[in-house]
Amino acid sequence: MSNNIVFHNQYISKKQKSQRNKQKSCILWFTGLSASGKSTIANELEKILFEDGYSTYLLDGDNIRFGLNKDLGFDNKSRVENIRRIGEVAKLLIDAGLICLSAFISPFEEDRDNIRSLVEKDEFVEIFIDTPLDICENRDPKGLYKKARNGEIAFFTGISSPYENPKNPELHIETKSKSVQESALEIKNYLKENGYLNA
Ligand code: ADP
Repeated sequence: MSNNIVFHNQYISKKQKSQRNKQKSCILWFTGLSASGKSTIANELEKILFEDGYSTYLLDGDNIRFGLNKDLGFDNKSRVENIRRIGEVAKLLIDAGLICLSAFISPFEEDRDNIRSLVEKDEFVEIFIDTPLDICENRDPKGLYKKARNGEIAFFTGISSPYENPKNPELHIETKSKSVQESALEIKNYLKENGYLNA
C-alpha cells in the first residue's frame, strides 16, 4: 500500500443516506453449502424488500467471479482473497445506505469474522442457510456435485474442501422444513424486529 494516500472524509454521511431510504444499512451475509439455497432465498428476499420500497443490492458469488474476481481460483488462498474483496465491496454498499444481500459459500469462519470486523456492530447479519449435504447433492442445480464427485472440480466445499458451520449466526435457517418464501419472510421479520426496516 502506498504511504501517500490519506482517507478523505465525505460530506454526506452513511446515516443520512440510510435515513433517506428509511432503513438501517447492513450486509445480510448468506453462508452455506453450494445449492443450500443462498441465492434463491436472497433473491426472494430482495424481491420482497424491493416491493416494500427498500433500497437493496444483491451480490452473488458466481456473478462477482465473472468480473471483479475473475482472476481468482478456488484454492484456499484465492477463496480468502475472494471473500476479502467482497467484504470491502459490501462495506461500500453499506456506506451508500443500502441493504446489501450477499450469497457466497464463505466456508471459513475466520473470513466471515473478518468481514464482521470490517463494519460496525449490527451492520453484519450472518444468515446460515443450513441444508444437509445429501439434500444439496440431490438438488445439484448446476451439476457441480456430480463433477466434484468425478474429480473434475478440485477444492469443492463439502466434498474435498471443508465447510465450517457458523457458531453464532444471527439467523439459522433450515431449508429442509421451509419453503423459499417462508425462509425469506423469516429473515424479513428479523430485520423488522431489529430496527433495520422502517428506520
Ligand atoms: P446456492 O446459492 O446456495 O448455491 P441456489 O439458490 O443456487 O443455492 O440453489 C438452490 C436450489 O435448491 C434451487 O434450485 C432451489 O430452487 C432449490 N430449493 C429447493 N427447495 C428449497 C428450499 N426449501 N429453500 C431453498 N432452495 C430450495
